Amino acid sequence: MRSDAVSLLHFDFCLLPLPVQLTQLSIDTARSAVQERKTTALALAEAHYARIQKEDGQIGAFLTLCKERALEQADRIDRMAAEGKPLPPLGGVPIAIKDVISTRGVRTTAGSKILGNYVPPYDCTAVARMEAAGAVVLGKTNCDEFAMGSSNENSAFHPVRNPRDLNRVPGGSSGGSAAAVAADMAVVALGSDTGGSIRQPASFCGVVGFMPTYGRVSRYGLIAFASSLDHIGPLAKTVKDAAIVLRTIAGRDSMDSTSADVPVPDYVAELEKPVRGLKLGVAKEYFGDGLDDEVRHAVESAIDKFKSLGCEVLPVSLPHTPYAIPTYYLIATAEASSNLARYDGVRYGHRAPGVNSLSEMYRRSRDEGFGAEVKRRIMLGTYALSAGYYDAYYLKAQKVRSLVARDFEEAFRKVDAIVTPTSPTAAFRLGAKSNDPLAMYLADIYTVTADLAGIPGISVPCGETREKLPIGLQILGKHFDEATVLRLAQAYEQAV
Ligand code: GLN
Repeated sequence: MRSDAVSLLHFDFCLLPLPVQLTQLSIDTARSAVQERKTTALALAEAHYARIQKEDGQIGAFLTLCKERALEQADRIDRMAAEGKPLPPLGGVPIAIKDVISTRGVRTTAGSKILGNYVPPYDCTAVARMEAAGAVVLGKTNCDEFAMGSSNENSAFHPVRNPRDLNRVPGGSSGGSAAAVAADMAVVALGSDTGGSIRQPASFCGVVGFMPTYGRVSRYGLIAFASSLDHIGPLAKTVKDAAIVLRTIAGRDSMDSTSADVPVPDYVAELEKPVRGLKLGVAKEYFGDGLDDEVRHAVESAIDKFKSLGCEVLPVSLPHTPYAIPTYYLIATAEASSNLARYDGVRYGHRAPGVNSLSEMYRRSRDEGFGAEVKRRIMLGTYALSAGYYDAYYLKAQKVRSLVARDFEEAFRKVDAIVTPTSPTAAFRLGAKSNDPLAMYLADIYTVTADLAGIPGISVPCGETREKLPIGLQILGKHFDEATVLRLAQAYEQAV
C-alpha cells in the first residue's frame, strides 16, 4: 500500500518537498531517500516534529519529546549519507518509544506520577538496538499507568484520543504508540504487550501491532508490569515495517536471562515465501457471545480471503479460553504487586514530603504516587499471593495457564497459525468503560491467551465498521515462528 506511493514521493522530493509527505514514508522509502540525498534525516525528524506540533495537542500521544537527542542522531546519519557510507536498516527513520521503555537521559514515567521525574541512567536494549540501526528517537509515548489498562484512560497525565475519532479511545495500554503511528507522527513505535497492549491499540487505531514470542526480544530496560507476561514489540504502518523492527530488536541479550538464544531469521526475506498450502485454524471459542457483528463479518471475510490465497482453513479447539481472563488477572496482578514494591520513595520517583517515620514515607509516597487502577491491582495481587489464598488463587491460575498453553500446543499440531478477531469490538467512546473495570478486563478476551502461552501474535487492519472505525485481525503462531505470522499478515495486507 505504502510502497505504491514511492514514485509519487520521488516526484515530491524533487519538486514539492512538503513536510507532510515526509511523514508518510515506510522505513525503506525513508531510509533510501536519506541515503540518496533526496531528503535528510534532519528534514524527516523536523517534519515529524511539525506534525506532532500540529496534531498532538488534540491527540495526546506524546508525554516527552527528546529533540536534542533526535537531531544529534539525525545529524550523524546525514553525515554518513554525505560521505556515501551505506546507512544501517533504519538510517534516519523517526520512531517513538512507549514510556514504559527506559531511555538514558530522557524522562521515563511509565504513565505514572510516581515516576513523574524519573530519568533512567541507561537505555533499554531494544532502544539501543534501534538507535544502533540508525533510528531517530523523537520522544516517549503516553500509556496506561504501568501499562495497566485497555484504553489509555489510566495515564496519570492525560488520556490519548483515537486519531480516527477523537471521541474514542485509542486502546491501551500502548495507546500513545498506536496513535502516534496512525497519525503519521512517527514511522514506527515500540510498545509493550502483557495482555494485549500492542495488538489491541493497533486494532483500534488501524495500524499493525506485533507481539513476538516471550523471550524473543530482551526486556532489559522495560519497566516491569508482570515479568512472565511482558513483551516488547513494534507498532507500524505496514507488516514489512514491523518485520524490519523485529529483525532489529530480536535476539539473545546477556542483560536479560529470559531472552532466548534462538537464531533470529531474516523476517523481511521470509515475507517473500508463499502462503499457499499453509493451514489456518479457526477456533469457535473466539467467535462466541460478545463479539460485535461487524467485527465478526470482517474477520470471516478475511478468512475467506486466506482461502482464496490457497490456505487451508480447519476448525481447532481451544477449550480453556473462557478461563483466560481470570487466570490473566490473577497472575498479572500477583506479579505486579511484587514488581511495584520497589516504588517506596527511597530509590526512585516520588517521595512524600513532611513525613515523620519510614512507614509513613512508604505509605504516603505510594498513596500519592499511584493511581486508582494500579492500587486496585496491587491489592488484588497481594491478596492472591497471601498465605491461605495462594493455593486457591495464584497456584490454581498457574495450573490453568498451563492448560491454556497446552490448548495451543494441541492446535498447532494441526495448523500453522490461528486466525481470530483482535478485540470483540472496535474502539469505544472515552469514558464508556472507565467506571466498570470488569467490562474493561473482559474486552481483553482474545489477546490475553497468547501472552499466557508465550506465543507470537499480530494485529493487522481488516476493514472498518459503518462508523469508519478500524477492525483488527489477529494471527497467532507457534513459539519462535514469528516468520509465518508475519508472512500471513503481509499476504493478507497485500491482498486487500
Ligand atoms: N489490558 C490488559 C491489562 O490491563 C493488558 C495490558 C497490557 O498488555 N499491558 O492488564
